[in-house]
Amino acid sequence: MPRSFVGEARKRVGPKRIRVRPVIERLAAEYADARIALTFANELELLVSVMLSAQTTDVNVNRVTSTLFEKYKRPEDYLAVPQEELERDIFATGFFRQKAKSLRGTMRVLLDEFGGEVPRTLDELVRLPGVGRKTANVVSSELGNPRGIVVDTHVRRLSQRLGFTKQEDPVKIERDLMRLVPREDWARFPHLLIWHGRRVCIARAPRCEDCVLLDLCPSARV
Ligand code: SF4
Repeated sequence: MPRSFVGEARKRVGPKRIRVRPVIERLAAEYADARIALTFANELELLVSVMLSAQTTDVNVNRVTSTLFEKYKRPEDYLAVPQEELERDIFATGFFRQKAKSLRGTMRVLLDEFGGEVPRTLDELVRLPGVGRKTANVVSSELGNPRGIVVDTHVRRLSQRLGFTKQEDPVKIERDLMRLVPREDWARFPHLLIWHGRRVCIARAPRCEDCVLLDLCPSARV
């Protein structure tokens, strides 16, 4: 969009601080079920699912974990088999060698330092091998302890289109969002944007004419 149109559009919708609440409320009304798309039954399964979800789809991870979690129920189970066997069991999620190595390293630390339990805070989670800030953010948010806002491709795109950030780098986008989004909404905010991004504000062709945020969005095209 040319610069003059961007300025016009920003004026039309008003400041982001005023818009952020109605954006959250409207998306929450639209997607009452917005939640993480991974299937898990406990904290360990949550952690493993999020670790496996790097560079693949949630649907693919759920397909793999539906049988994986029958076999691997405790941290010890991931260490009881040869690494090659674990690699075969998670092969379909891609990057299986690195993921198997990270999973085994993480299970070792869980047993050695956390009594076999998944820690709840971001600072503890990032100490696990192969667990970066994004994975730790997702897990700690799901465990009711959000310390940041998860930024994936949808959150990035929608935050930019909604004029909530001008940044490209996920860490800087997260920082902008943490200043803007009320803390009590940090956990659900990414889910709302992800659901909207998959259904309406699609990457290549946003369906602005069907969007509940039409009058709040500086990028609306109608
Ligand atoms: S109005 Fe268009 S660009 Fe803005 S959030 Fe809705 S679909 Fe996306």
